[in-house]
Amino acid sequence: MMTYKLFGPGPVDISEKSYTALTQPVMGHRSKDFVELYHSVQPGLQELFGTQRPVFLSTSSAWGVMEGAVRNVSSQRVLNCMCGAFSDKWFDVTKRCGKEATDLRFEWGQPVEPDAIRTELESGAYDAITLVHNETSTGVMNNLEDVMEVVRSFPEVISIVDTVSSFSALPIPMDELGIDVMLTGTQKALALPPGLALFSVSERAMSRAEAIEGRGYYFDFLEFLKNHEKGMTPSTPVIPLIHALQSKLEEIAAEGLDARYARHVSTNESTRKWVKENGFHLFPHEDHASVTLCCIKNSRELDLAAFNQKLQQEKKFSINCGYGKLKGETFRISNMGDETEETMAELFAAMDDLLDEFLPRSVV
Ligand SMILES: *Cc1c(COP(=O)(O)O)cnc(C)c1O
Repeated sequence: MMTYKLFGPGPVDISEKSYTALTQPVMGHRSKDFVELYHSVQPGLQELFGTQRPVFLSTSSAWGVMEGAVRNVSSQRVLNCMCGAFSDKWFDVTKRCGKEATDLRFEWGQPVEPDAIRTELESGAYDAITLVHNETSTGVMNNLEDVMEVVRSFPEVISIVDTVSSFSALPIPMDELGIDVMLTGTQKALALPPGLALFSVSERAMSRAEAIEGRGYYFDFLEFLKNHEKGMTPSTPVIPLIHALQSKLEEIAAEGLDARYARHVSTNESTRKWVKENGFHLFPHEDHASVTLCCIKNSRELDLAAFNQKLQQEKKFSINCGYGKLKGETFRISNMGDETEETMAELFAAMDDLLDEFLPRSVV
């Protein structure tokens, strides 16, 4: 197996400290030790979620909770706000759950528009809305403050917000913004291995769930709450990952949230600088571009596949060559997780060494 450091936007590189935390002995999930572990991660998670509500641990990838949320809160119609691969797929997933759904589409590379959302919600047809905060496929970060200001004026509409690739990289105050269901996964912004999703549910959304049929079992919000009260999860969780999460939360506390947020801003700025200096530009407009990754238009016709292969083989780094319909047209560089100015500079130096070789030769 060829190993290289992952600089694509998820899964991202995992620290030695996190790998070590994964190797702690597995305990019984109904034991006192587990209850202690479960309780120990709550304060740190609540701080990152910006909530007073419990934070639930789901042994699944983020999609499990994205699907589960729709099944828990809607009996009428869901408004799926779409502006990239993940938000687009949520519409498909909503319909597959047997829910009525409307696709509110924005061009890839554009953010969702609060006014268009308001117009749609004013129809009174909806009891839920889905939003992806950071569209990892296009590198667009939606303005949650503006969107939630609109959504809050429709009290019957439960908001479900995916923060998979933005969580902990900037403040996302769930309670203050009025987000009803906020969810993330471990393998992106948190720089942990995949397999665990984290989510929190407002009181309002919890009451809604009580009245909804067909919630199933594995993602039933009421089961999560009932078990949370005992310091447990409904079914056997991925205990090694919870140890790694505990270790990561300690690291985040030691760095300090403000320093963590500032680090993401500066590593993202460095990436944008590399993009400009090398004659590329971002796929989305700079004003709504993400702070955790850059989605870069392949405007110089770089042979992306060959470039990335040599980057992996010779430099032991890997970037991402575009997602979904943007494959080949864009490439993506992540600054999520533990990356610093120094580690980003190592990547840029490696890319600089190889770049010329994979650009089309200019005709003289
Ligand atoms: C990766 C990603 C997902 C899907 O996460 P899984 O862990 O694969 O289920 C959902 N939303 C966004 C924004 C993502 O980047």
